[in-house]
Amino acid sequence: MRMAKRVEELPPYLFVEISRKIAEKRAKGDDVISLAIGDPDIPTPQHVIERLCQAAQDPANHRYPESEGLPEFRSAIAEWYEKRFGVTFDPDREVLPLIGAKEGIGHIALCFIDPGDVALVPDPAYPVFSIGTMFAGGFSYYLPLTEENDFLPDLEHIPQDIARKAKVIWINYPNNPTAAVAELDFFERVVAFAKRYDLAVCHDGPYTEVSFDGYRPTSFMQAPGAKEVGVEFHSLSKSYNMTGWRVGMVVGNARIIDALTRVKSNLDSGIPQAIQHAAIEALTGPQDCIEEHNAIYQRRRDLLLQTLSEIGLKARPPRASLYIWARIPDGYTSLDFATKLLEEAGVVVTPGTGYGKYGEGYIRLSLTIPDERLEEAVRRLTLWHASKRG
Ligand SMILES: *Cc1c(COP(=O)(O)O)cnc(C)c1O
Repeated sequence: MRMAKRVEELPPYLFVEISRKIAEKRAKGDDVISLAIGDPDIPTPQHVIERLCQAAQDPANHRYPESEGLPEFRSAIAEWYEKRFGVTFDPDREVLPLIGAKEGIGHIALCFIDPGDVALVPDPAYPVFSIGTMFAGGFSYYLPLTEENDFLPDLEHIPQDIARKAKVIWINYPNNPTAAVAELDFFERVVAFAKRYDLAVCHDGPYTEVSFDGYRPTSFMQAPGAKEVGVEFHSLSKSYNMTGWRVGMVVGNARIIDALTRVKSNLDSGIPQAIQHAAIEALTGPQDCIEEHNAIYQRRRDLLLQTLSEIGLKARPPRASLYIWARIPDGYTSLDFATKLLEEAGVVVTPGTGYGKYGEGYIRLSLTIPDERLEEAVRRLTLWHASKRG
């Protein structure tokens, strides 16, 4: 049997070694606490589950859904965007439901990238941007996200020949894994850059609703001209703790939405309709859950930040996202340091290099574990640090 190159080119799973050690420890009966998973621990709001159960009883929802989603779901998405960001979309031409944002992010490369084409992709980043590009036969040109640049790509320093050759630029704010946020002026510069070089912009924005201290993240689509050049991916996963239901959306430029709809209609048959009804309920029903959840994450953030500072790890307090991006001490690689925390403290964190080479020197800690487990993790980190100082 001979497999396709794209399968062989998939990067080796960076955490094989860590995963093996976790399994080993657990087999021995050791308790391991993972701060490595970006998956909300808080359940989906009850009213959303009830709507899902009701919808499951309706035989109309037992049949093939339409690829482009229920018209009432597309309208609910457009209304939500209007209410939240003051941006209007035509629900029939500028909105497309997705089987989770990841599905659309992976497939949209097929709309832009022919073999040999270039995508501009941040580093560190959510791996699907570059892997989707590779699956389509293209190459990623990486844009370093560094602390000096507030984890925003430095557009002025992208070589002109690369910018001209590229067909798409990926951005993601509030950012995973760095937890950085972007304001309107940055998005405006991205629009201008995209126009100058005839690029499409794909903004991934699943964390716009997960924010702290009263901060309200901006949507790329709020930038004047954004709709002429790009789209924004969004998801119900992080906003409404619905990762398991697989439902998200993309909004923006009608030509891009049309292209993705055509690609997808040849690959999938849409989102199970009962789940679309649950998603409508989430977007149009009571929104108190968002503030309630953010208050929980904010408490966890503060607890973890305090501990990190006590044990000598520097981190900027995130204003949004589910993560803390912490600098590790000199003299370690991210992978070494993460391995050490696992072996010596029984706490799992993600090495920054899992998201690209510019993630070196950092670890990512997630706020999605129950309070009592987080408190235990914090206790372990504190003891671990004390034991090292003798
Ligand atoms: C969680 C996440 C997604 C995926 O969301 P789904 O809708 O669950 O597929 C996309 N992008 C980033 C950066 C994420 O962290």
